[in-house]
Amino acid sequence: MEKLAVKGGRPIREDKIYYGRQWIDDDDVSAVSSVLTSSYLTCGPKVNALERTLELYTTARHAVVVSNGTAALHCACAAAGIKPGDEVITTPLTFAASANCILYCGGTPVFGDINPETYNIDPGNIEKHITDKTKAVIAVDFTGQSVKIKEIKEICDKYNLIFIEDAAHAIGTKYNGRPIGCLADMTCFSFHPVKTITAGEGGAITTNNDSLYQKLVLAHTHGITHDEDLMEEAPHEGDWYYEQVNLGFNYRMTDFQAALLLSQLKKLEKFKVRRQEIVKRYNEAFKEIPEIIVQKEIVESDTCRHLYIIRLDLNKLSCTRREFYDAMSAENIQCQVHYIPVYWFPYYQHLGYKKGICPKAEEVYKSIMSIPLYPRMTDQDVEDVIHAVKKVAENYRV
Ligand SMILES: *Cc1c(COP(=O)(O)O)cnc(C)c1O
Repeated sequence: MEKLAVKGGRPIREDKIYYGRQWIDDDDVSAVSSVLTSSYLTCGPKVNALERTLELYTTARHAVVVSNGTAALHCACAAAGIKPGDEVITTPLTFAASANCILYCGGTPVFGDINPETYNIDPGNIEKHITDKTKAVIAVDFTGQSVKIKEIKEICDKYNLIFIEDAAHAIGTKYNGRPIGCLADMTCFSFHPVKTITAGEGGAITTNNDSLYQKLVLAHTHGITHDEDLMEEAPHEGDWYYEQVNLGFNYRMTDFQAALLLSQLKKLEKFKVRRQEIVKRYNEAFKEIPEIIVQKEIVESDTCRHLYIIRLDLNKLSCTRREFYDAMSAENIQCQVHYIPVYWFPYYQHLGYKKGICPKAEEVYKSIMSIPLYPRMTDQDVEDVIHAVKKVAENYRV
């Protein structure tokens, strides 16, 4: 058996690889630099072009581009009219922003447990938590795999709830052949560098609903409008005139970021194909390692995978998750854990959330880690990761 690097053996790689990484080429660089020398650094033609391109790509009626994915979620909650006293159901196995956006509006996050095989929120656990205060559901396409959209929509229709999809991981994914972005009442995307395509920082909300669209537009730019139809007074003062009609935010994206994302969008299909190739190779390889459990895919989802998660069968290993993770790191494969259940954070504990409320998510959290997955990985990188997982699993096999 090969000696683990963590115990003084030779690491599988000389250079470290990380769980995620952007891919920026010369064409992305020139797209950005041409905007930097143009007239508009922000509120210019690139943001507009990006919104129209996202509408085409997702087939949604409207897209609003914002400064990051968290801003997208905040605008969606604001447009949904979330206010103090309202409850919104979401998953604990997500980045904190999926729940923080509810708190920003004064609402109360209610955590519904996950399916322990797909790691996405279980529609049955959404329905279980509905009360007369429930206003919306924020379902997260965790790792890029679509949630059970049909089932969630049926629940939302039945109880008159707004369905917000946190698709920060899921640009490029299709559900029953239709792009993520055209199915929920509002779909939120993130374009942070670890996500599938990037604007540096960036986000977007798509919707088919005209009235939600108007609210999203107002929310992302101070609640200010130049549209007479939306004004209360509209006294025809002159061209300069505008009104602030509610309390919005400045969540605009710059034009050079929009140019970067437009350039990245052209490569989304290529990135998706490569991500899928790597996922397929990992799935094959890990089938042969009894200590590794792979994420289950639902047939409805044609997934553009953002994260590849391995789950350790800790009954078959003599190590802890921490020891496995540290051993991978010593082999120069830098993993990450997605995610600590949101309500475990001190901030949520101080709000009164108790550990134990979503036992399946907590159980899954204790045994998972994300291994490297990004389109620029070479075949050799992929084989190194597989080799490391095998090596560590063998060393700790009971
Ligand atoms: C990244 C992420 C966000 C937030 O996106 P930012 O662009 O970083 O603000 C929200 N939800 C999930 C699930 C994410 O992974």
